[in-house]
Amino acid sequence: MLPAFAHAPNNKTSRHRIMPADFQAPCPLCAAPGSRPFSQSRGRRLKRDYLLCPRCALVWVPESQRMSAEAEKARYDHHQNDADDEGYRQHLKRMSAPLIAALPPGATGLDFGCGPCPLLQTMLVEAGFETVVHDPFYAPNEAALLERHDFITATEVVEHLGAPGAQLDRLWQQIHPGGTLAIMTRLRSPRRRFEEWHYKNDPTHIAFFSRETIDYLGARWHIEPQLLDVDVIFFQKPQPPVDAGSHENDERDGLGHK
Ligand SMILES: [Zn+2]
Repeated sequence: MLPAFAHAPNNKTSRHRIMPADFQAPCPLCAAPGSRPFSQSRGRRLKRDYLLCPRCALVWVPESQRMSAEAEKARYDHHQNDADDEGYRQHLKRMSAPLIAALPPGATGLDFGCGPCPLLQTMLVEAGFETVVHDPFYAPNEAALLERHDFITATEVVEHLGAPGAQLDRLWQQIHPGGTLAIMTRLRSPRRRFEEWHYKNDPTHIAFFSRETIDYLGARWHIEPQLLDVDVIFFQKPQPPVDAGSHENDERDGLGHK
């Protein structure tokens, strides 16, 4: 079962001092050991550390310094997106337009982490593509996570994931050959600018991807990621070999010809 977004244990207030155990934790994306201190927030409202993975370049917040589930949801409730907000629709369109253009007729998909107002689902359905949603807080739909999809979208989601490696691997497995995993997340700036980067100041953001991280995922899945905009990335699963038509069941199981 796909784990929910990760939260601080026992819902305690996060502490503000990095502990030896935090250095021993593997990278939450690639599981490499040896993440090292990268930056800190020491503001009045936000005090936490950021670690940098030496392999996939993910910058991540130690588990002990993350928000509780209750605090995280309260923040989402407070910042609900207005489904009628034309500005937000235009924002999402930077992902939905190229996705819709690439989808074959009849494609169906999942919007993972849709939030309280599933506007992207509405836009995809308006374009003729049946789309189900899952959100651990607002639309729990474990069945959708067990089904295969032609496309899966995750807009402004991966930066909230406590175990992005396992969670993205799981989503990737649920995509049919030829299908697309489309994510939207701000990519991390060069190190010298991280301290001024507003994106890190949202306490619900705990995993910061960079171009290197995207390339790591592409290598992990043996594909070439497509960077369509500064924050829009498509991962397309290869089509099965043309001579595999008589092995449809194998393809659907991800066990097509090598
Ligand atoms: Zn890593």
